[in-house]
Amino acid sequence: MSKRNIIIGGAWPYANSSLHLGHIAGLISGDVLARFFRLKGDNVLYVSGSDCHGTPITERARKEGKNPRDISSFYDEEFNKMFDGYSFSYDLFSKTDNEYHKAKVQELVRKLYDNGYVYEKIEMEPYCEKCNRFLSDREIVLECPECGKETKGDQCDNCLHVPNTEELMQGNCIECGTKISQRENKVLYLALSKFQKQIEAHTEKVNHEWRINAKNETAKYLKQGLVDRAITRNLDWGVDVPIEGYEDKKLYVWIDAVLGYLTDTMFLCENSNKSWEDFWKEGNNNKIYMCHGKDNIVFHSIILNALLLGQKENYHLVDTIVSAEYLNYNDQKFSKSKGIGMTALEALDIYPSDSLRFYLISNGPEKKDTNFSPDEFVAVHNNEILNKFGNLVNRTLKFKGLEELPEGKLDDKILEELKVTYQKVGNLIEKLEFREAMREVMKMVESANKYYDTREPWKQKKEDIAGFNDTIYTCAVIIANLSNLFEVAMPKACAKLREYLKLEKPSWEVITAVKSNIKLSNVEPLFNRI
Ligand SMILES: [Zn+2]
Ligand SMILES: [Zn+2]
Repeated sequence: MSKRNIIIGGAWPYANSSLHLGHIAGLISGDVLARFFRLKGDNVLYVSGSDCHGTPITERARKEGKNPRDISSFYDEEFNKMFDGYSFSYDLFSKTDNEYHKAKVQELVRKLYDNGYVYEKIEMEPYCEKCNRFLSDREIVLECPECGKETKGDQCDNCLHVPNTEELMQGNCIECGTKISQRENKVLYLALSKFQKQIEAHTEKVNHEWRINAKNETAKYLKQGLVDRAITRNLDWGVDVPIEGYEDKKLYVWIDAVLGYLTDTMFLCENSNKSWEDFWKEGNNNKIYMCHGKDNIVFHSIILNALLLGQKENYHLVDTIVSAEYLNYNDQKFSKSKGIGMTALEALDIYPSDSLRFYLISNGPEKKDTNFSPDEFVAVHNNEILNKFGNLVNRTLKFKGLEELPEGKLDDKILEELKVTYQKVGNLIEKLEFREAMREVMKMVESANKYYDTREPWKQKKEDIAGFNDTIYTCAVIIANLSNLFEVAMPKACAKLREYLKLEKPSWEVITAVKSNIKLSNVEPLFNRI
């Protein structure tokens, strides 16, 4: 098959707090796919970035007496460091707070407007005369009409009642306490309802590959009927609205962030000799994957596709939604305020990143919530990764008294097994079943260890040197292949193996020979016991 042009979009984390292990468990599917398709020889662009805009950041900035950029830049830096630590192979991890992204988003939104998919509506909205600005629901305090407790306007903390517009108008400004008044406000709306039929048809065509939660969630919205959505708000932090008369407003964060996949691609291609259209326009043997947690599904399955359709420029729509369930910590939800769980960076301080990756992939929340417990993690690291994989490498490449890799003959049965393993694992990854894929690779490791034990090379070395050479050589070929098969999960260990065995690039092809006479003196254990 000829090379495909593949976009892997990793969800844009919100630059307002540290990410925890559950976020990594959701996002790592993108890295698995990006690495896998690169191994297969496809043209892959894996893109993401920090989502810097939105009200939680502006509110926090106001409270802390900071500029919103201080906050988003802080977390953007942290995300960069963290994703590097976990070996995420993004081609670009940018941020929405950069001029290139903003300019491109404005062009795209302007096009939607020119094509008649964005229209103006006048609404009465809560306003504080003293602070001189429109207030969002969260910036209004009121006495809850249901339970009588004082609450913020988005939802009652006590009884979960969501105040309606009339009830909100009885509230006060959270900042200065002034009674709310109303003012006419101009709002731009995206005519999402106009895309109902096209998105329905597209979804039906592609959703056989999606995870079940994505199918269900998207079907629910389509069944209810798509509702037009406001795209502008009264903020001073975000992307300027590219339409006259809206100079005092910004675009809603959801429209700005999902377009980041496209603006990242444009930026990357402008700075290389690639064409972004090859990835985003129809007819280029292309495929688009979006990888995120289940709370993000409709932004990718519906909204992004609507924004692309509204360009009327033959865009290729999102093909595959890779939406994770949640990862819990010791069977509880991650919660910073309750001190449950650890951040992704904290985990890196105590555990090796390859092992964390392997655990989060092989125990990933693919179809249901899964759990991270430090005890289970340590057991997987010691009993699976180190005792099986690490041990195979050790007892082959660091066989006592062996200074060079001997020449030998590759076992025929093992070669067959390797071929089957590539086939099976590749199919599973394409079907988004990464847990099962990792189990298949681990089976190959177990089979290799069994082969080793049966051959008894420690005896062969004294009694049958030709047999000994075949055993070690066969195991070395297996290890070479494991450096391909495990590349999606444990890239650091695989890079080391390639260095030891003088292999060049990883690929998704069976390696049938390794160079003999390779010096083994520099081989070190891949993993240490925790
Ligand atoms: Zn006020
Ligand atoms: Zn209440």
